[in-house]
Amino acid sequence: MKIEIKESNCIGCGACVATSPDIFSFNDDGFAEAIKEPIKEEDIEIVKDAIESCPTDAIKEINN
Ligand code: SF4
Repeated sequence: MKIEIKESNCIGCGACVATSPDIFSFNDDGFAEAIKEPIKEEDIEIVKDAIESCPTDAIKEINN
């Protein structure tokens, strides 16, 4: 599983970083970025929680 964060949608609220600090961080522009990819099986549940926590639907799951 991979994730894509649409920067134009991100408002830098930090909900994803608070939910999964091992997976998400802020880049130099103050937007969220994934720091651990691909997402491991054991992290999928918490990443899904982060996706749901995002108020602007900026995080998308990519299945490939
Ligand atoms: Fe950006 Fe969404 Fe993360 Fe907030 S929860 S920092 S809007 S990606």
